[in-house]
Amino acid sequence: MAEYAHILVAVDLTEESRIVATKACGLKSAYNANLSCVHVIEPLSLAYGGDIPMDLSTIQEQIHETAKSHLAEFASTLDIATENQHLIFGRPETEIDTLAQQIGADLIVVGSHGRHGIALLLGSTANGVLHGAPCDVLAVRVGT
Ligand code: AMP
Repeated sequence: MAEYAHILVAVDLTEESRIVATKACGLKSAYNANLSCVHVIEPLSLAYGGDIPMDLSTIQEQIHETAKSHLAEFASTLDIATENQHLIFGRPETEIDTLAQQIGADLIVVGSHGRHGIALLLGSTANGVLHGAPCDVLAVRVGT
């Protein structure tokens, strides 16, 4: 039977993160594995580019602080040590895969909405992660 030694769970810090994290925790116990978590903050400049002619750094800093405390709170309920909590700026799918490589994760756990139609064509974080993953990926069905 395949064993997993280091599981990385990607959390967007929405309500659905709980469902994804519960699956990751179950696998952690089953394999007696390490569990790390990651939340990626998308830089406002990536989302809005030059559309807004203003300095976004203060807002970005506030977003960072809020995400940091939410991630720490979430991770503590999962019993994830501080050094295994990762908060990164960038594009979620790219950063999740890069981090998995860096920490030597052998399983990435993400949520998946099972989208249809145009949303499916546009892709999802789960698709993006799978595309560049250095290891196995578990897409946990969340929502509709
Ligand atoms: P989405 O396809 O964007 O609806 O996201 C599906 C899943 O991708 C989530 O349940 C998370 O596992 C992961 N994900 C999405 N956004 C982020 C993010 N900013 N940081 C970490 N994981 C994320």
